[in-house]
Amino acid sequence: MRETLPFATNEVFIGGRWRAASGGQTLPLANPSDGSTLAEIARGSADDVDAAVAAAQAALAGDWGRLTAAERGRLLATMGRKVLEHVEELARLEALDVGKPLKQGRADAVALARYLEFYGGAADKVMGETIPYLNGYTALTWREPHGVTGHIVPWNYPMQIIGRSVGAALAMGNACVLKPAEEACLTALAFARIAEEAGFPAGALNVVPGLGEEAGAALTAHAGVQHLSFTGSVATGRLVQAAAARNTIPVTLELGGKSPQIVFADADLDAALPFLVNAGIQNAGQTCSAASRILVERAVFDEVVARMAQRYRALRVGPALADLDVGPLISARQHEIVSHYLALARDSGLQVAAQGEIVHDAPAGGWYVRPTLVAGVPDRHALAQEEIFGPVQVVIAFDGEAEALRIANGTAYGLVAGVWTRDGSRQLRMARALKCGQVFVNNYGAGGGVELPFGGVGASGHGREKGFEALYGFSALKTVAILHG
Ligand code: NDP
Repeated sequence: MRETLPFATNEVFIGGRWRAASGGQTLPLANPSDGSTLAEIARGSADDVDAAVAAAQAALAGDWGRLTAAERGRLLATMGRKVLEHVEELARLEALDVGKPLKQGRADAVALARYLEFYGGAADKVMGETIPYLNGYTALTWREPHGVTGHIVPWNYPMQIIGRSVGAALAMGNACVLKPAEEACLTALAFARIAEEAGFPAGALNVVPGLGEEAGAALTAHAGVQHLSFTGSVATGRLVQAAAARNTIPVTLELGGKSPQIVFADADLDAALPFLVNAGIQNAGQTCSAASRILVERAVFDEVVARMAQRYRALRVGPALADLDVGPLISARQHEIVSHYLALARDSGLQVAAQGEIVHDAPAGGWYVRPTLVAGVPDRHALAQEEIFGPVQVVIAFDGEAEALRIANGTAYGLVAGVWTRDGSRQLRMARALKCGQVFVNNYGAGGGVELPFGGVGASGHGREKGFEALYGFSALKTVAILHG
């Protein structure tokens, strides 16, 4: 018998109303821990997207568009408080839907609340400028919402990614249409319920679950959308950017990475060790900013591998609600992708330094893989170049700063990097020379840091979310020059 899930529904949320998708169709949602069907969700269509965009436009022309920045901020702050009241339910939903251990679900729910608090507080603090210009003029700038913003969210961190993109967009006064991933959308639906409870005017937020190639493609192609925010794969990101180009609208793309943590011989290894491993296995490695490459200076290479291996051997993998170190992967397809890389490691004769264990009573239908540490990987090997999106870390040896940089910057991606060294000058040299959007020195925040602008370069995408910077991305600058003599 299926358990009752708080907030779950097989409806779309458009213009403040819950209703069936226009075609009346639904999609099954799987529980990655045992492969069972968890719930049915609406299969939103292009017609539903049309209706959602129209509802968003009506909200902008109506109650939502009339609110002051302070009033929008207050709504977001209220919503943040309500999310905190529902942390346990949200964590459980995310655990069942995504397969993440409960503690990670809790952390994600608290992060969602934090995004809402942060953007609630920031909504009325976005200032324009007055600009010294010609005699007899006053020139000034202000920031306006784009209008209708489309948000396409993946399955790995639904709450956090909704918080960072929808939270910032609402703070700036946009009206949002959200298309969550077909594989995980229960917390997106919960988000809409909580927004309703908090008192957001109808149409400020609309949620259309469905398939990427249907609802997602319809949203990206829609002529009534003025900005797109996308997090997901490089291939789909390119489709989204092409669709945005056809409508000449801005797009923020966050497309994952192959992020390195670089360990120099002078690093505090005791401090580094937990960060090295956790940033690779968090959410079963299905994290855009996972530290999937560990670069280690040769003098301490054997020691670092041995200490990481010790941690790997202690890792326990099992159902999300058992709240172990690692949960299942999201889907059979993701399991296939990760298994392919593990087979490739074996076939290439790479050294598997250690693996974690799947607990004996893990349900047979779940998509479990053993977290795997592969040492001594050549830096051009596929395992060191391609995003695996699973609990697999490669360790690569280097000699000196120049080689560390060459390897670190030697993939198509550039999202996050970590540097472990006690040498202050080197910390700054490395931070400057690394080609990526975020550098952590003597720490590493996979997915963390509501306050810290986040985004990539190269194949990792462009545009920034999180922090105050996101508010600039979710608004357009207008310059006004007044001749008054
Ligand atoms: P996708 O990029 O295909 O999915 C991300 C989002 O885009 C989902 O909401 C998806 O909807 C939607 N989408 C899919 N096709 C279209 C389309 N044509 N137009 C508009 N939206 C669309 O990623 P996958 O889930 O297929 O995962 C594949 C790989 O992507 C992973 O193995 C991983 O490497 C990477 N990935 C990276 C993430 C990151 O955080 N950067 C997050 C997730 C995946 P739907 O789910 O319904 O298809």
